[in-house]
Amino acid sequence: MTVYLTTITVMLIILVVCIAGAAKSERPLAKDVFFLLCYMVLPLAANEVIALAESETIAKFAYLLYFIGTDLMLYSLVRYSVDYCDIKYDGSIFKKVLIAITVADIFLVLLNPFLGHVFELEESRLDSGEKYIKLVSLWYHKIHLGVSYMLGLITALIFTIKTIRSSKLVRGKYLMFLVPFLLTAAWETHYIFLNRPLDYSMVGYAVCGIVVFYFAVVYVPTALMDRMKSTIVSSISDGVIFFDDNNRCIYANSNAELIFDIKSEAELEGIRARFLKIMDVDEKEIATINSKKFTKKYHGSDGEKTFEIEYHRLYDGRGHGIGAFARFIDRTEELDRMQKEHYMATHDKLTGLYNAPYFYELVERRLKADPDRKYLAMSTDVRGFKLINDRYGRPVGDELLIKIANVIENNSSKHTLYGRLSGDKFGLLIPAKHYKEETILRAIKELDEAVSPDYKLLIHLGVYEVTESDKRASVMFDRAAMAINDIKDDLEIRIAYYSDRMRDEMLWEQKIASSLDDAVSRGCVMPFLQAQVDKNGKVSGAEVLVRWEHDEEGMLMPQSFISVLEKNGTIAKLDKYMWESACRILRKWSMKGIDDLYLSVNISPRDFYLLDVPQVLEELTDLYEVDRKKLRLEITETIMMDDVNMKLEAFAKLRAMGFILEMDDFGSGYSSLNMLKDMPVDVLKLDMVFMSDTANKEKNDKIVKLIVKLAGELGIHVIAEGVETGEQVRSLSEMGCLTFQGYYFAKPIPLVEFEKRHVG
Ligand code: C2E
Ligand code: MG
Ligand code: MG
Repeated sequence: MTVYLTTITVMLIILVVCIAGAAKSERPLAKDVFFLLCYMVLPLAANEVIALAESETIAKFAYLLYFIGTDLMLYSLVRYSVDYCDIKYDGSIFKKVLIAITVADIFLVLLNPFLGHVFELEESRLDSGEKYIKLVSLWYHKIHLGVSYMLGLITALIFTIKTIRSSKLVRGKYLMFLVPFLLTAAWETHYIFLNRPLDYSMVGYAVCGIVVFYFAVVYVPTALMDRMKSTIVSSISDGVIFFDDNNRCIYANSNAELIFDIKSEAELEGIRARFLKIMDVDEKEIATINSKKFTKKYHGSDGEKTFEIEYHRLYDGRGHGIGAFARFIDRTEELDRMQKEHYMATHDKLTGLYNAPYFYELVERRLKADPDRKYLAMSTDVRGFKLINDRYGRPVGDELLIKIANVIENNSSKHTLYGRLSGDKFGLLIPAKHYKEETILRAIKELDEAVSPDYKLLIHLGVYEVTESDKRASVMFDRAAMAINDIKDDLEIRIAYYSDRMRDEMLWEQKIASSLDDAVSRGCVMPFLQAQVDKNGKVSGAEVLVRWEHDEEGMLMPQSFISVLEKNGTIAKLDKYMWESACRILRKWSMKGIDDLYLSVNISPRDFYLLDVPQVLEELTDLYEVDRKKLRLEITETIMMDDVNMKLEAFAKLRAMGFILEMDDFGSGYSSLNMLKDMPVDVLKLDMVFMSDTANKEKNDKIVKLIVKLAGELGIHVIAEGVETGEQVRSLSEMGCLTFQGYYFAKPIPLVEFEKRHVG
């Protein structure tokens, strides 16, 4: 008995120490272990009390404690097992059933004092003769044992399965619990079924408790961790090399072997020198480096790769160097992908040059970094590029753009930045001192026949000298492109230089273009009439000339806006409006019975591309019931510069409809007498402003005389316009000219005034 008591007491003390240890520990399973050990104390202490008990009441109480303690202990063992073996338990139905069974069993055992169904007690004596209160098992005791065995069996099963399934490396820790646990169970069975007094198997449980405490709270699996670490090092996708305290390479994992082309352990030695080269240091310098991280390209046995390389020196606990390691992380793919993505985002797909946003960014960066240097921003333009696409197909257009890109690349020095701005526009930024017009002209000429030998390509270049380097790059290249507008139709001049006048012009154009519609609808655009008279001043008709009463600019003369409207295509709108105004006037006069006056309107060459001129005029004259002979049409000879057939067809149509065609501004520019043959006109307007060369008056007069005579012979009526003096009227009359228009007789005046003077 004494031995028994002493053993159990010692075990109890050890368990209490372990409980204290578990309470303090922060390890994940410490809480499970704490409760398990606490519950384990109950049956142990109960057994001690039973052994010592003098009275039956105390013994009864101790037996109850023993049964309940066993239930709690065995349940906590299950709880510990699932946590230790990492089995999903919380929230499972299995947990609910187990708790229900355990709680029910505890409850039913507690009813023993009332029902007397678990056990009775009887006095007995040990072999040694000592008094001992013995348990007489009743029917429920068997069920309680069944519950206990079931809980014990679950624990044993969990550990057995885990032991079988786990690696040899970790199996030990499961076996260390399983073996004592199974032995204890067998030991206990021995006591129960032989009904032996003094349950020594309690010691077994205590041992199991201590084992549990050791593995869950004290034990650190260093060997396992080391093994894991070395497995990681050898299997990670990075290359890893170790150096010892004498700077000798002692280990290279398989990836490092591949990088350094190592085939045997003997070759490890050579890695050090190669590594120093990669680090770009010598032994002395590397001794001063504790850790370093850098990216470098290295040509290893499996080709050139980009590595992120880490180097770290290692120290023991007391700060003594024990060696170093280096890690090679392969960043090739990542970098390739990033480079590719960057390339795609910054380059033009077709030509491979920088795209506009990136080019502008680079330009701004360059100008910022180099503010004292003079730069030129240049923009190219291919005349009629859209036409090339339409006529030869998109692939030819694309090919042309690639050729232009190549020419730019081949002719640019390292100082030049270039990129594709949009469509057929390429941008170049050149330091002014590297700019040579001849080089550029030569490059442009290279492309002259790039589309086909019978299609002469016209490439123009606009140049803007960067004066304000803080301006947005896109603005600079817009200005360069703007300069081209001046020479767009010029076959000879290929390079245009931006000036502030161009900017003013552009602003003016924008102003005009944006306010035309509104001005027309508010009646601010109106017809002025300039009388056409005979030599005595008798009015036969008038020319309708547009005037624009502008809100901000005052009265605008046609010179200031006609060309703008011609450029942006809105001239058709204006002309149609003027023709309609003329028709309305003629209609009004005819209603008043005045049928002897005609009106001449101007037709812009652009109208023929923007309108079906004959159809529009036909509709207007029909609508206002105007006699077509009364609406004369003025066209300038420049109209014959291109698409001659289309125009001749339109003139023929107009004449067939009954309109009278007048050739305006004859003598103004490149007039040739040939024109009179080609153009089917009824009237020639001889512009005296161009024909009055006072220095060569005699010659001049002869030419005018000849033209008037020739026209007469061709049956073409001549009107002299821009007549400013009586002298002019006299000499022109002598030559045979019958009709005059000019300030000498009348200036262009508003309709109301004209009507006051000449109508009715
Ligand atoms: P144009 O058709 O040759 O018109 C005659 C121009 O000569 C008028 O200029 C007129 O004011 C001016 N002029 C008349 N007599 C004299 C003179 O004795 N001496 C001088 N130096 N000039 C004289 P305006 O009205 O400024 O028109 C200029 C040009 O604008 C016109 O030349 C015409 O080509 C164009 N234009 C005028 N109205 C229209 C229009 O409604 N549509 C189109 N497309 N063009 C128009
Ligand atoms: Mg005219
Ligand atoms: Mg004229």
